[in-house]
Amino acid sequence: MRILVTGGTGYIGSTAVEILRNKGYEISILDDCSTGHADCVPTGVRFIQGSLLNRSDIAAALQDTDAVMHFAGKSLVGESVEKPDLYHSVNVNGTRNLLDEMKIASVTKIVFSSSAATYGEPDVIPIPESASTNPTNPYGATKLGIDSMISRESKEQGISAVSLRYFNVAGALKSDRGWLAERHNPETHLIPNVLRSTQANPVKIFGNDWPTADGTCIRDYVHVIDLIDAHIKALESLAEGIHEIYNLGSGDGYSVRQVVAAASLAIGHEVPTIDSPRRAGDPAILIADINKAKVQLGWVPTRRINEMVADTLASFA
Ligand code: UDP
Repeated sequence: MRILVTGGTGYIGSTAVEILRNKGYEISILDDCSTGHADCVPTGVRFIQGSLLNRSDIAAALQDTDAVMHFAGKSLVGESVEKPDLYHSVNVNGTRNLLDEMKIASVTKIVFSSSAATYGEPDVIPIPESASTNPTNPYGATKLGIDSMISRESKEQGISAVSLRYFNVAGALKSDRGWLAERHNPETHLIPNVLRSTQANPVKIFGNDWPTADGTCIRDYVHVIDLIDAHIKALESLAEGIHEIYNLGSGDGYSVRQVVAAASLAIGHEVPTIDSPRRAGDPAILIADINKAKVQLGWVPTRRINEMVADTLASFA
């Protein structure tokens, strides 16, 4: 099967490219490299350096494509609070362009990277896909808007679609070209920041007065390799005119302080931290109910937080 991977030079997209290729899928990549890295593109893979805001770039990328894995987009909660228009433009308008070009190219299959941020402050934990959706930040609102757009497209145009609502993706994959890992600049994600913490520059803990046992936010971390395994299962499950939504997490929650403890264990000394104000847009607790993906996709995540921390640490070497 020939897959167009949008965002294929980013952290999650490049990991998908690697795993898909190893499984025998034929890959093209569309990426503007605004946050990704062109050096992730494996030799022999068709790479269109272009934007979702440029329809002719999308049309070129969609040539000889059977299905799209759509990772491209802006993905930082904090940045989205500061730049909501940018998030709407790239994520919502970019995906609208992609769907329109898919229609022209008669490509009818899509697996989309949605987010747990669509739920906002959940009224039930763990969060099932049927939970109410009230995003607390513009990033989550764009992902929710795209999920609705894809649902409509599926009903009206008959496309086959899956939205995968990621909780917190972590870990790294070792390829024959070295580690594929988070390389954001600036890095905002907890695990890499904790692992890089020094006495001179301690990792900030965003809020110590959340309504949780230790006062820090709780998140559900899923290893990027398990996450991509779910994408492949989703791709193979696509059914005409149906849009399914699945949560992808581990089903377990870890507080910020528990992640710091796991990192301290991996490094062999206490990670320095500094208590800091809450970050705008953060909900207190996000834990996935992953039963639907388990039952319908036969997906079971197997890698735990210690492995996510260890792989991220190994990727720094
Ligand atoms: N966090 C933190 N310090 C950091 C980065 C993140 O305390 O340097 C917290 C953040 O407030 C959230 C959790 O760690 O509660 C996970 O944040 P991250 O940015 O990794 O992912 P997000 O939940 O925003 O997708």
